[in-house]
Amino acid sequence: MNDTSYQIEYLKAMNRKLGDQERIYKLLVQHSDHAYIYYSFVTDEIHTLGLFRDFFDFEINNSEEIMLLSDIIDRDYTDVLIECLYPERIGCDNRTGEVYDYHKQRWLLIETSLLKDNNGQYTEKIIKISDITEEHNKKNEIVNLAYCDSLTGLYNRSYFISRLTEMISKAKEKNDRIALISIDIDEFKRVNDGLGMNIGDELLIKFGSFLKELENDRVMISHLSNDIFTIAIYNPVGDYSVDKFRALILKKLETPFMISNRQEVSISVSMSAAVYPEDADSALDLISCTDIVMYKCKALGKGQFKYFDNTILNEFLDNIALEKDLNKAVLNNSFIVHFQPQYHSDSKRLRGMEALVRWKDDDKGIIPPSVFIPLAEKTGCIIPIGKFVLEESIKQYAKWKKEYNADFVISINISALQYKKDDFVKSVIEVIEKYKVEPKNVELEITESILIDDFEAVTNKLNELRKYGVKISLDDFGTGYSSLSYLKKFPIDTLKIDKSFIDTLLVDNPTRIITESILDMSHHMGFESIAEGVESEEQYNYLNDVGCDVIQGYYFGKPHPAEELESILGEI
Ligand code: C2E
Ligand code: CA
Ligand code: CA
Repeated sequence: MNDTSYQIEYLKAMNRKLGDQERIYKLLVQHSDHAYIYYSFVTDEIHTLGLFRDFFDFEINNSEEIMLLSDIIDRDYTDVLIECLYPERIGCDNRTGEVYDYHKQRWLLIETSLLKDNNGQYTEKIIKISDITEEHNKKNEIVNLAYCDSLTGLYNRSYFISRLTEMISKAKEKNDRIALISIDIDEFKRVNDGLGMNIGDELLIKFGSFLKELENDRVMISHLSNDIFTIAIYNPVGDYSVDKFRALILKKLETPFMISNRQEVSISVSMSAAVYPEDADSALDLISCTDIVMYKCKALGKGQFKYFDNTILNEFLDNIALEKDLNKAVLNNSFIVHFQPQYHSDSKRLRGMEALVRWKDDDKGIIPPSVFIPLAEKTGCIIPIGKFVLEESIKQYAKWKKEYNADFVISINISALQYKKDDFVKSVIEVIEKYKVEPKNVELEITESILIDDFEAVTNKLNELRKYGVKISLDDFGTGYSSLSYLKKFPIDTLKIDKSFIDTLLVDNPTRIITESILDMSHHMGFESIAEGVESEEQYNYLNDVGCDVIQGYYFGKPHPAEELESILGEI
């Protein structure tokens, strides 16, 4: 027999013998930690017992006054309270529930049991009320640990998914909509790497607590993972629209976060959104939709926002297919290298060849690097591809040297991931020695982006290679940060002016001025200058006139397979 039913039995007995047994009855309730309400359906009598007077500041004198309890209970728990006070109304013989007494800021457990006579008619009801604040808080702490992210106190991924699933069921029932916004801090890794993990954590806490302020019964926030937060909005209209939330977030980010060491940190975020039921009908699918959109946003740069749509989905699926095919291509080594000649502009003599990789697919034919290099860089496939290009180009140059006594520069594009590898310098030198070519005939093309991450480590490696005799060329100059002060510290031999300058040179005066200044500076610093993407005689004449050393472009020749270039080599 449980505690409550035992006491009911006891009280029932007591009730029968009320008067005679008053002493026992008092003993019972005086030693109880609980408050009781006893009600007789037969006589409509109601008594409060036990610690009722200590628990509450009022008395219940008749059956209607039992509703005084609802005045002190938080509105969110009114339904629970009513069910516990009147289980008979919902056809139950007992009922238990937890309610919050906002008056005294405590949690109350209400346990009600009903008794029936032999005919099944309710005779008595006893309501036991206990203060369970302590247990409740302890339980909550444990629940919080399991459900909340310890850093920000926001819902963690798994709890958010279960709550979003509940939200979706409700929306399904009521024909409502839900918007999910995913927020990803741009370049968070840079904050962590540059300012330290503690500052990164503090930033997440600060941003998280700002988001938490947006939470209410229609809005749920989570810290989904590392630097990703999500907002689920029930009925995203009016003040609750996605646009409104975006605007709030953007406004917040206008002011930098003040970190405890008095440092100010500014961040930007990328946001993506998907909507139930249009885009997906489960929590996981909705999250996947925002992930897919985020992938697109990140590819477009910083501070982007997009809604999920079919174009983005198809592009994503194409990318997955491409990634699969690319992995296969790496396994089968389905790559070839084409070479594009570079000429000295004054003498029109061959200066070098740039090695440009192509993917040769049985079905799709030749796939240009612009399609697969960015993906290969993201997946790491660029390492084996780059290794192949390095070896293939140097091998080809060695062959040309032997057959045509060639003496020119072979330029090889190297991506950031390759530089980052510890054995990069060693691996380049190994190939050069394997094919017995002179280091001065090998040039590595790098872009500014590799300097941003780890200037010192990269510079050390490049210096080592230059000391060995290899040339270093800075590719796509003018498209990146192009800080001139960078250039001073940076060990390079060649500067390649990006095609975008060459394209508008003849029609745009500012471009002409910039190009001429780049060439001027390049000469002063002792770099060899190369103009890329020269397509016309006019462009060539102009560049030759203003002193650009080397010309590369369709005007002199497109990239071709090695065997098609032998006629050029026959002439040198
Ligand atoms: P990039 O290094 O700037 O290479 C020059 C690109 O411009 C090449 O495109 C070349 O074919 C193209 N080009 C040259 N002259 C002209 C011209 O007169 N007109 C026009 N419209 N285009 C011209 P491609 O071969 O498609 O390569 C694109 C990019 O892919 C390269 O740009 C480079 O960033 C990357 N890439 C190519 N091969 C490799 C490689 O082996 N490794 C790495 N990491 N990246 C590579
Ligand atoms: Ca290049
Ligand atoms: Ca280039």
